[in-house]
Amino acid sequence: IIDNLSDLEKVAVLGHGDGYGTVYKVCHKKSSSIYALKVLRFDNNAASGVLQQAAREAEILKLVDSPYVIRCHGVFDSGAFMSADHNNEGGGDLCFVMEYMEGGSLHDVLRARQRLPENVISGMAKRVLEGLHYLHGMQIVHRDIKPSNLLINSRGQVKIADFGVSHLVAGALEVCDSYMGTYAYMSPERFDPERWGGDNAADGFAGDVWSLGLVVLQCHMGRFPLVGPGQKPDWATLMCVICFGERLEMPETASPELRSFIWRCLEKDWRKRATVDELLHHPFVNTTCCVSTDHELVNFVLPAD
Ligand code: ATP
Ligand code: MG
Repeated sequence: IIDNLSDLEKVAVLGHGDGYGTVYKVCHKKSSSIYALKVLRFDNNAASGVLQQAAREAEILKLVDSPYVIRCHGVFDSGAFMSADHNNEGGGDLCFVMEYMEGGSLHDVLRARQRLPENVISGMAKRVLEGLHYLHGMQIVHRDIKPSNLLINSRGQVKIADFGVSHLVAGALEVCDSYMGTYAYMSPERFDPERWGGDNAADGFAGDVWSLGLVVLQCHMGRFPLVGPGQKPDWATLMCVICFGERLEMPETASPELRSFIWRCLEKDWRKRATVDELLHHPFVNTTCCVSTDHELVNFVLPAD
């Protein structure tokens, strides 16, 4: 249990988020254990009440306990961590102490390897589905499934990161900024609730399935699928493709199982889209010979040098 930010020492910067966050590798001085610390910086205009509320809500993150979801060991609402080497007066930070994942994110893996083989994709997809199954069972919608939020450790475990966080952050930032979050992996019903919403889309579980389908397709194609090669996914283009475009053609290079899996995820009407439970029984993640083991995942992601 981490009860004080001052017990942590920065070791390295692991990455930056979409503008508001930085993730550090940190060492817990008393136990020498390594953690990841996500620091979300709010500017001076962020009302402190909003921050406190966010910190309170974030307490539920600490209740989440699944081998497929990143553990959160503490949430702190403080500027203390940054002020040591940043002149961070006023404003506030929301700090999340998380388990450290040595293999980094799927985003990093894709950058290094481009396309992934199907056994690795199905191994990842299966583990992410287990994570979503757990979160949805706790009535938590992730809302931000994307490659940088899927992390891998040296045991070959794949875990979902940043659930709920994006929601908390968006809530807090609305006060001081017109925060959009990431929309590249957003489902039609979240993008355009009026056209695609219908009665119960607001609960959002189906949105996580859409995002997973897009990530899986990206792993196969080696690039973000909804825009042309090298093109940056801007808001207007995505709006057109996601909400008004034809359903995507499934790549011929993929196996029939993979094609069927992606097809069921990228169903535009959330009522007809596959559920997590349906996908957990899908052949793509259940053909023993083709789903990578933890060991195979590690060897792929962290090859011995
Ligand atoms: P968002 O803020 O929307 O989640 P993001 O996922 O791109 O965007 P961060 O969550 O700040 O940004 O993460 C940035 C990078 O830090 C990730 O791509 C990953 O490489 C690394 N990272 C994040 N969490 C951990 C962790 N627990 N262990 C190891 N590396 C991590
Ligand atoms: Mg993230």
